[in-house]
Amino acid sequence: MTDPLPTGATIGILGGGQLGRMLSVAAARLGLRTHIFEPGADAPAGDVAHEVTTASYEDESALTAFAQSVDLVTFEFENVPTSALDLIEAIVPIHPNRGALGTSQDRLTEKTFLQDLGLSVAPFADITDEASLNAALARIGAPAILKTRRFGYDGKGQVRLQSADDAKVALAEIAGAPAILEGFVDFSAEISVIAARNPQGEVACYDPGMNAHRDGILHTTTVPAQVSANLRTDAVLLAAKILNALDYVGVMGVELFVTSRGLIVNEIAPRVHNSGHWTQNGCAVDQFEQHIRAIAGWPLGDGSRHSDVTMENLIGTDVARVSELARERNCALHLYGKTQVKAGRKMGHVNRIIG
Ligand code: AMP
Repeated sequence: MTDPLPTGATIGILGGGQLGRMLSVAAARLGLRTHIFEPGADAPAGDVAHEVTTASYEDESALTAFAQSVDLVTFEFENVPTSALDLIEAIVPIHPNRGALGTSQDRLTEKTFLQDLGLSVAPFADITDEASLNAALARIGAPAILKTRRFGYDGKGQVRLQSADDAKVALAEIAGAPAILEGFVDFSAEISVIAARNPQGEVACYDPGMNAHRDGILHTTTVPAQVSANLRTDAVLLAAKILNALDYVGVMGVELFVTSRGLIVNEIAPRVHNSGHWTQNGCAVDQFEQHIRAIAGWPLGDGSRHSDVTMENLIGTDVARVSELARERNCALHLYGKTQVKAGRKMGHVNRIIG
């Protein structure tokens, strides 16, 4: 086992969005530096990092120089090309590991892994063409959701089918991309668990939060989630089981559906997660610091909830409410420094302490 990262060491982060920004702030608080690798200009993380490389994930010399300048690499964005990860991994370790990343990048691999672990998932089938879709619809039934295996987020790459008659249109909509069909889950709530594991195998889970979406994007997370103590325990135990099975190091977001037959795992995200932003004002050690501690080989921090919180995302023009929000009591503002407002763009969030 390698020694814990010492003060002054540098963590490379693939992706320079708001998650990379908040990870960089947490690293700085622990006396560590970050180096951001991001193809896009004006990366939100760039404002607060020690160094930024603006280059494409295909630029081998930029990737090599980046890897040589850091002590380990993590990511805030899962869809980094395999070739870039191969090149980096030959030079420095990547946490969470490649297996965990590969499992969660592909919905078919992810669902199969979760099912093999004995966890409940929605009924699913591999879809390669119209014949496989028709066979899957006959088995799973409708309504159902066709989801591309890769590159889906915030409800993108998904088509709902009300009946088998929608098959042709749904396939056309995803333009032949490899996909899975998922049976529609009749859930009463969506909750998520943010869980962390370090190289020593210590696991710490935050209290599950209850999530509400708007237009397919997370709108609010509220803790504690209004579910039974049994379900809260089940959620935490199954998250720990997933982390152990993947020999995971870092923070993971586990999204769950609450149903009358218990919890169904929707998906896992191998990184800090939007539904864990409440921890910044609800816990002594938030998910960003916890991720840095885990990948740096430090002891995990105290993630017990000291306050009840509702996190609200500020999407697009919501950010115009900042001056009003800044006057609210017990309301912590977290803005990402994005100057261009676009519909659907995450501009910041607020954490309201509600108890
Ligand atoms: P995902 O990208 O898989 O997280 O899906 C985005 C949202 O679509 C989820 O948060 C749910 O609200 C909804 N959704 C996804 N899969 C299902 C399903 N199998 N049954 C019902 N709703 C779903």
